[in-house]
Amino acid sequence: MEQNAAVNIKVQDVYEVSPIEGLMPSSQPGEFIVSPWGEITNRDITIFVDMHALINIYRHAKSSPQKEVGGFLVGYPMLEKDRLFVLITDATHAQHVHSMGEALSFTHQTWKMLDCQMSERFKNKYVVGWYHTHPGLGLFMSHYDSFIHNNFFSLPWQIALVVDPATENHMFFQKKNKRLTESGYYFYTQKTAENAASLKKMIDRLMIAQKRERSGRYKRYSMVG
Ligand SMILES: [Zn+2]
Repeated sequence: MEQNAAVNIKVQDVYEVSPIEGLMPSSQPGEFIVSPWGEITNRDITIFVDMHALINIYRHAKSSPQKEVGGFLVGYPMLEKDRLFVLITDATHAQHVHSMGEALSFTHQTWKMLDCQMSERFKNKYVVGWYHTHPGLGLFMSHYDSFIHNNFFSLPWQIALVVDPATENHMFFQKKNKRLTESGYYFYTQKTAENAASLKKMIDRLMIAQKRERSGRYKRYSMVG
């Protein structure tokens, strides 16, 4: 933790930014296909996730059905008029993490690699949050997860994503009144026939995943708070 805390100060300094003015993908119907998922309210930060970024996260999650893995959500905090929204354009795997049962911890090397990627591959983009998996555990933010979020992703527009590779379901969380709360969001993707078909397939699969989650049959064991 000591190492993480030291590097955190630097990460915060580098990525602390004001949201950029721009249009939501939903305001550009000629360019993007947009599809809502879950409950979205006007009071919250609107989350837009690129379909391909989420597919990348699912591949990562399913590559490790037993052990927790995680990574970072990359994109832009943005403003359309007075509405704050987060555009997640990419996801990148966290390297050199320690996975201890339910807890995933980032190491000094993890942050170093992230810094490297942010200055090269994702130049001019920002870390807009993080994701991690809960194999067979369901979708929630544990006390430890909240600790990580509050310490390393504490900017108002930084969000968390939890994926359960057992059910193939997932959930976004954002801060509402200082509490990490489940959040609906929008998928977006460039408007092509191929993407439209992939998005439809993805939503069909998510509906099945949601049913699996609700059936409770895929739980590895019942969760400790
Ligand atoms: Zn967790």
